[in-house]
Amino acid sequence: MEKYYITTPIYYANSKPHIGHAYTTIVADILARYYRLKLGQENVWFLTGTDEHGSKIAQVAEKEGKDPQTFVDDVSALFQLSWKNLNISNNDYIRTTEKRHEDVVTEILTKLKSAKTPLGNDFIYSGDYEGLYCVGCESYKKPEDLVDDKCPDHNKEPELLKESNWYIRLSDYAEILKNKIQNDEIKVLPADRKTEVLSFIEQGLEDVAISRQQVKWGIPVPFDKDQTIYVWVDALLNYISALGYPNDEKFKKFWPANTQLLAKDILKFHAIIWPAMLIAAGIEAPKELFIHGYFTIDGKKMSKTIGNVIDPNDLVSEFGVDAARYLIVSQFPFGQDGDVKADEFKVKYNSDLANGIGNLVSRVITMAEKYCDNKIPALKYTGTFNLTALWKRVEQNYVDYKIFENLREIQELISWADNHIAETTPWAKAKEGKAAEVNQILYNLIEVLKQLAGLLLPILPQTGAEILKRINFASTDIESIKTLNNLDSKKTLDKGEPLFLRK
Ligand SMILES: [Zn+2]
Repeated sequence: MEKYYITTPIYYANSKPHIGHAYTTIVADILARYYRLKLGQENVWFLTGTDEHGSKIAQVAEKEGKDPQTFVDDVSALFQLSWKNLNISNNDYIRTTEKRHEDVVTEILTKLKSAKTPLGNDFIYSGDYEGLYCVGCESYKKPEDLVDDKCPDHNKEPELLKESNWYIRLSDYAEILKNKIQNDEIKVLPADRKTEVLSFIEQGLEDVAISRQQVKWGIPVPFDKDQTIYVWVDALLNYISALGYPNDEKFKKFWPANTQLLAKDILKFHAIIWPAMLIAAGIEAPKELFIHGYFTIDGKKMSKTIGNVIDPNDLVSEFGVDAARYLIVSQFPFGQDGDVKADEFKVKYNSDLANGIGNLVSRVITMAEKYCDNKIPALKYTGTFNLTALWKRVEQNYVDYKIFENLREIQELISWADNHIAETTPWAKAKEGKAAEVNQILYNLIEVLKQLAGLLLPILPQTGAEILKRINFASTDIESIKTLNNLDSKKTLDKGEPLFLRK
């Protein structure tokens, strides 16, 4: 891999960001930072943004007495502020109300209007539709999707709508999509999501209306100005509009996306409509889609009514940036559904960060101050913890999106170091005048701190950089951090303030 392009879904700008948005965005940030360390800054592009059209936004804006543009300006500013607070390193932020986006959507729709399907039919055609439309979902519902005549996601009865729309002929793409997903040309992960998409495709694909007559807050269909483009079709195109499709160097370098992260409710849009549109327009499909699960908070679905919505900014104010990032991604394995226990944040903060990382760094440097004249001994690593094997596992975990497993690897390294200190009792050996042994123990521990810092750089970027500074290791190049025995014995250590104060 020479370049890496990662995207989050663009978030719907109908309300301020919550912990679910933060979760996906932090994971994307961790992957982007990891690949930057590996491939170089210039070879990684990380995109996030907001999806700002559609009737749901127009309705909420009206309720708040704002015009839709002012409303989405405000919401998008809240998202951007939250990402700044969480130290998210996105290279770009796309808003679907930006001209650069609307221009590309218009261009692609015009192109698709004359495109043919693999079976030789027009990709776009005009048709009539009558159906049950859920405004919350911005999509038509089949009777079998409803529970007590209501959309189960919005607990609202959909409206009966009849309109003449433009359609895309998805039905002609079942075979080609099935093959591409089957043979991992479009890799859908985790494996059970791949099975889900394939079985959905095997039931046959229905054509999809890509325009709306009722919806005014949207991009006009270029060949039919009375209608606007379906918000989903508009939104999906952000992944290429932000790169400056078709002529920008960024597009040429970074497309197709290496990783597109999304939650399971939008899988069909990303695994079916999105690649079908790209194939029809003669553009490559994304390489990998990674689908993650849902959050519940203390066993309940997150909702304003229950009042259990967690604002990621509150976590930052309470625990600090790095800790907030850690607490959010350490809840459960990425990819699965999981429950967040709000009152465990503090417990985890104290055990993993204050007593874990922070305490280890402070103990090791304090001992080096006392027993090694605050210098790094000129020795080689002889510890029993295999650091090279650790990095192999960690790097494979990144390829497999196993972020949670990497947090566990980090905690295991810390436990090893804590046990090593307890077993070797450097203070007792110093008293007995065994200076050579003490020096060796401390060299091993300082080497572990260096490796720990490298492991932390993508996840807790400030903490990783701070540890490197305290052991006076100048490079943040991942290869040189991984290399054993390159600590400079002429350098002194800096104990500094506690990395994480106990709560
Ligand atoms: Zn709905």
